[in-house]
Amino acid sequence: MSLFEKFNRYDEMRSYFEERGTMPFGAVTERSLSSTEAIVNGHRVILAGTNNYLGLNFEPEAIAAAQGAIEESGTGTTGSRMANGTFADHLMLEKDLAEFFGTKGAILFSTGYSATMGMSATLAGPGEVTLLDADSHASIYDGVRLSGAEIIRFRHNDPADLEKRLRRLGQRAEKTLIIVEGIYSMLGDFAPLEEIASLKRKYGAYLMVDEAHSLGVMGDNGRGAVAEAGVEDDTDFIVGTFSKSLASIGGYCVSNHPELELVRYAARSYIYTASASPSVIASTRVALKLMRQRPELREQLWKNAHRLHSQLAELGLQIESHVSPVVAVKLENTETAVRWWEDLFQKGVFVNLVIPPASPSTYSLLRCSVSAAHSTEQIQRITDAFSTLKE
Ligand code: PMP
Repeated sequence: MSLFEKFNRYDEMRSYFEERGTMPFGAVTERSLSSTEAIVNGHRVILAGTNNYLGLNFEPEAIAAAQGAIEESGTGTTGSRMANGTFADHLMLEKDLAEFFGTKGAILFSTGYSATMGMSATLAGPGEVTLLDADSHASIYDGVRLSGAEIIRFRHNDPADLEKRLRRLGQRAEKTLIIVEGIYSMLGDFAPLEEIASLKRKYGAYLMVDEAHSLGVMGDNGRGAVAEAGVEDDTDFIVGTFSKSLASIGGYCVSNHPELELVRYAARSYIYTASASPSVIASTRVALKLMRQRPELREQLWKNAHRLHSQLAELGLQIESHVSPVVAVKLENTETAVRWWEDLFQKGVFVNLVIPPASPSTYSLLRCSVSAAHSTEQIQRITDAFSTLKE
C-alpha cells in the first residue's frame, strides 16, 4: 500500500508514450519562429492547436510595452492584490476592461483558470445552486466543487434540459447560478445563449458566461459570444482569459452588479495568490487595444476557420458541422488518434491530442485550431498532412 498507487495509471500512460518514442503531452517548444511555427521536440512544425486566435503574441508594440514595464516596475509584484500587489497598471487594465465591455466593474485574476474557478466557487454557496453545462471546463467544475453549492448538470447545449431543471427548483431558481461557455474549447461549438438567457430571465436565476475561447473571436470588436447574441443585459457575469486571443496570461470577470467589488474580499483565488506581473499587464493592455483596432484579424480568423473546416470535411474526416476556429477531428479509437498525432507531427503539423477523460466523451480528438496568422499555404499544409493519414 502506498500513497502513490493511484498514480500508476499515469505512469502506464507515460510509459506507453515513452516506448513509442513520442510525447504528445508536454511537448517542448525549443524555439518559436513566428506566431504559427516553432521547433518543437526537434521538429519544425506548424502550430495548429494553439489558442492564439488572433496571432498577437509577437506584436512589437506589446513586446515594447512589456519590456518598458519590466524596466519601470520589475519582473514581479511579489504580493497579492490584497497585500502589496495592486499596482496602478492593474487598475488601468480593470478600467480598460470595464470600458470595453460596457460594464460597471471589472476585476483581474492572475490566470484564466483562477478567474473562472474563483467566480464559480464564490458566487453560489451553501444552500444555493449552480446549474452547469455538462461539458464545462475543469476550472468551472473545480470551482463549483469548492463552492458548497448544490451542483446540477444539464445536458450539453440543451436549453430544454436546463429548463426542466430550473422548473424543478421552484423558488430556489432565484438563488441559482447558471454557468455556460461562449465557445466550448474541445469541439468549438457555441452555447445557445439567446435561449439560455431567456430561461435565466424567466426563472429569475443568474447567468455567468466563460468567454475564454470567444473573446476576440465573436461579437463587435471581439467582445465575445454574449455581445454577438445580444444578451449583455441578461448576463450577470462574464469571465475570460488573456491567454488566448490576447496572447498573454491572466483572467478577468466583468459585471454590472456592484457586488463584483465585494468578490475581491471573498474569492480565494483572487486573495491568496500573487497578482500578475507588470509586463503581463502591459502586453495585455496593448493586445486588447490592437484587438479593437484591427477587426481584419477577426475576419482573417474566420476565413481561415472556414477554409480548414471545408478542407478537412472534404477529406471525409469526422468533424462537427458548425464552423469555428476550433476544428476537432473525432476518432473512436485512441490508438489511431495517437498514431495520427505522431504522423501529423512527423509531417510538421502540431495539433492537440485529446484522449478520454479529457475529451467530452469516449472518443479521442485531434483538436486543430486556426489563427488569423495562419497563411492559406499553411492551412493547405495542415490539410495535406491529414490527407495522408490511414486508419
Ligand atoms: N475556461 C475555459 C473554457 C478554458 O478553455 C480555459 C483554458 N483552457 C480556461 C478557462 C483557463 O484559462 P487559462 O488557461 O488562461 O488559465
